[in-house]
Amino acid sequence: MKLILIGIQGAGKSTQGSLLSEKLQIPYLSSGHVLRQMSRENRWIKEILASGRLVPDKTIIEIISQYLDKPEYENGYILDGFPRTVTQAEQFENGVEKVILLDVSDKEALWRISGRSEDRDDETLKAIRKRIGLFHQETEPVVEFYKEKGKLLSVDGEKDIDEVFSQICKGLDI
Ligand code: AMP
Repeated sequence: MKLILIGIQGAGKSTQGSLLSEKLQIPYLSSGHVLRQMSRENRWIKEILASGRLVPDKTIIEIISQYLDKPEYENGYILDGFPRTVTQAEQFENGVEKVILLDVSDKEALWRISGRSEDRDDETLKAIRKRIGLFHQETEPVVEFYKEKGKLLSVDGEKDIDEVFSQICKGLDI
């Protein structure tokens, strides 16, 4: 099964992605995680991440395509954080079956992020605000893009973890 998870930062994508990965026995791939790893050796990416801006479409499309060409992704995957713009979605077809939107308000997301213990330099308030703004501007049109294709599964991400997961499983019929 080829799945995409969409939601603002703090919506619970990595939590639900890991649960789905375990249940379906397919790998979970987070574009943000890949970029954070790359940023250790790449100043340009490090600066973009710290500012909360998006990496250019061409760059991220190349990176994700290279990953998905690996044999372990052949039987399916759960993608988190990609595609994030309509250009990325248009250029990335790849037989995606369902796109899961974890619907969480800005207020709830900010509340959750502020309670996180990890100290990431891309989690400054300024960067978080920038990212939430970009989600509405760039990624909500991606949600519409998949909705029009009949691939969208929207779930209430403000419920507790187990309930969100069972909503997803029900929607995917797994
Ligand atoms: P995330 O962990 O998904 O919130 O991603 C962290 C950061 O990585 C984002 O704020 C962007 O700077 C960058 N990033 C992740 N995925 C993408 C993407 N699909 N397109 C552009 N930039 C991305």
